[in-house]
Amino acid sequence: MVASAVRRPAAILLLLCFLGLGSGVLEYLHNLQHEREDAAEAQVARAAGLPQQPHKTHDETNCEFHAQLHVPMLSAGWVPLLVLLGVFVAYLTTLARPLVGQRIPLRIDCRGPPLS
Ligand SMILES: [Zn+2]
Repeated sequence: MVASAVRRPAAILLLLCFLGLGSGVLEYLHNLQHEREDAAEAQVARAAGLPQQPHKTHDETNCEFHAQLHVPMLSAGWVPLLVLLGVFVAYLTTLARPLVGQRIPLRIDCRGPPLS
């Protein structure tokens, strides 16, 4: 009872993280944050009478959070190894089981020798 009560919030949190990453909601919210920051900087520059800055692009090269959003969860080098392991296990399960010798009695005491 206690273990499931502890696991459930962790599972829900993990599910929310995967949904946020997989659906792109986190990246959308982060892009909105960049737009808000850029608009605030432009407004400060306009109020100070400075010239307008060109529109900045935010990507992995200039934003650490963007880089973390786009990093692969599984290194590409492990994928062929995992596929080959799966194929090897599938091959092993198709092998025929070896025949095991069975002992055949030559004589059954209560019935006499078997007819052959
Ligand atoms: Zn960013």
